[in-house]
Amino acid sequence: MTASEDLFARARAVMPGGVSSPVRAYGSVGGTPRYVTRARGSRIWDADGREYIDLVGAWGPMLHGHAHPDIVRAVTAAAEASASFGAPCADEVLLAEEVVARVGPVERVRFTSSGTEAVMTALRLARACTGRPLVVKFAGCYHGHADAMLAAAGSGVATLGLPDSPGVTAATAAQTVVLPYGDTDAVDRLLAERGEEVAAIITEAAPANMGVVPPPPGFNAHLARAAAAHGSLLILDEVLTGFRVGPAGWWGLEGSAEGWAPDLLTFGKVIGGGLPLAAVAGRADVMDLLAPAGPVYQAGTLSGNPIATAAGLATLRLSTAASYAVLDANAARLSMAVDAAFAAAGVTHRVQSAGSLFSVFLRADPVTGYDTAREQDTARYATFFHAMLDRGVWLPPSAFEAWFVSTALTERDLEQVEHALHGCADAGFPRGAPTLG
Ligand SMILES: *Cc1c(COP(=O)(O)O)cnc(C)c1O
Repeated sequence: MTASEDLFARARAVMPGGVSSPVRAYGSVGGTPRYVTRARGSRIWDADGREYIDLVGAWGPMLHGHAHPDIVRAVTAAAEASASFGAPCADEVLLAEEVVARVGPVERVRFTSSGTEAVMTALRLARACTGRPLVVKFAGCYHGHADAMLAAAGSGVATLGLPDSPGVTAATAAQTVVLPYGDTDAVDRLLAERGEEVAAIITEAAPANMGVVPPPPGFNAHLARAAAAHGSLLILDEVLTGFRVGPAGWWGLEGSAEGWAPDLLTFGKVIGGGLPLAAVAGRADVMDLLAPAGPVYQAGTLSGNPIATAAGLATLRLSTAASYAVLDANAARLSMAVDAAFAAAGVTHRVQSAGSLFSVFLRADPVTGYDTAREQDTARYATFFHAMLDRGVWLPPSAFEAWFVSTALTERDLEQVEHALHGCADAGFPRGAPTLG
């Protein structure tokens, strides 16, 4: 029995499914999750001493690789000054200033401990601001695990093939309208019929929780216009894309050029550099409805935690134009390598990208939303995943997740991944056998 097998067996006796978050259990790829002992730069080590090149990056936060010396220094200094004060501290002000300076539509920032909480707060704010009950979301977009957002959600909900979650009341579910991603006609119809009831439209800035589905040209701009025309708010969920795809997130790549702005945004993952930190942000008049400035209650014992804000600040300070150029180059090189390896193996596939995020779908046609994402061959992804893991490449253990690059990947890492890809692209696809169509 390996050390990971032993730990997983013990974990299942005391933790539901053995894990603290579902996708980690390897449910959709099979086998035993690797227990991690440490990680540094681009490399991660398991409890059995095996070394891997990490292309998950803790699901996004580790933009500069693991244990970056600047971030370790910031976190250590913060911890020496105490883990928590339950009072305001300087770093949260500096971090909020940094977010406001980077992201045009942001005038105010409220820190939370998770993306889920940030989204929950954004929805409450939108309902308070408009006095309306309904929220519109898109199938396959993941916005965390708040009750209202567990309808046709991506990420672990997609991985586990869950329709919705038991425990969400019918009354709550009835206040969430789910539309097909990218379908502006469906949005317009819904707003024409029920616009007066719609508090907010929420969307992933660029969906990456059903695999990567780049927004159709003009889709986000249309949402911003349509929401404004009907007195609803647009909530742009940048928990995954924020500060990852560029200095001002996806909005910075698209919205600033196209001249549209969301009313509220949510951030998480990179903003905390690996520590529990997220934020809801946006227009001052909406954000100032939050207590104590306004009547909408929201709070958190650990919100704006000094260690987490120090880690986030150190991470954003490292996130310069030069580092985004490195991320883009690493993503371009790896996504082309994935494409080339599957092509050489004669395996039907599609690599889709949004900024420096990409993922591979084992199907022929473009994936434009949740229905087409679910048509991919997840069993073959599982075989490919394990073949890569055996060769020392740590990929997301689900076909519905993006691959995350970091600035820490070296030339040697990239070559090693390319080599592994060429050895594994035909895993589960015997050479010469007909491929999927
Ligand atoms: C991860 C994610 C969330 C949820 O964030 P947590 O910190 O896991 O609660 C919300 N929205 C998007 C787009 C995400 O990728």
